[in-house]
Amino acid sequence: METRSALAAAAGRGYESLVESCRVCGGDGRIANSFGGSSKTCPACHGNGRRVEEPLFRDVTKTKPSHHVTPSKAAVPAKATWPTTHDGTTLANEVNASGLSAETKTRLVREIIEYEGSHGKCTQTFIKKVRKQLR
Ligand SMILES: [Zn+2]
Repeated sequence: METRSALAAAAGRGYESLVESCRVCGGDGRIANSFGGSSKTCPACHGNGRRVEEPLFRDVTKTKPSHHVTPSKAAVPAKATWPTTHDGTTLANEVNASGLSAETKTRLVREIIEYEGSHGKCTQTFIKKVRKQLR
């Protein structure tokens, strides 16, 4: 037994010289139980005496905050379906109240929206032109 123990100890030393020992148990895979005097398996290396590879501390300061990135989809404005100006809204309401077909109403409202988009407002000339089509 003593010979085997000496061999094991020698092997252990050789082993330790090649691989870093567990920092908790010192490489013997067991830690002393302070209550009963017996030993139990080292929780850090699970008894193999080897030092567990620890993940390197991540440098959080170099991590780019992904939540600051705004999706490009949010920049796309919703397509207008109704005039935004007072005159345009009034005119569109007149179009909808008219006896024109739904197709024509949709086309006229779209014209109002497009006119607003290019001119910024509905001119009296444009309003008169649209109103003529309501009759
Ligand atoms: Zn250990």
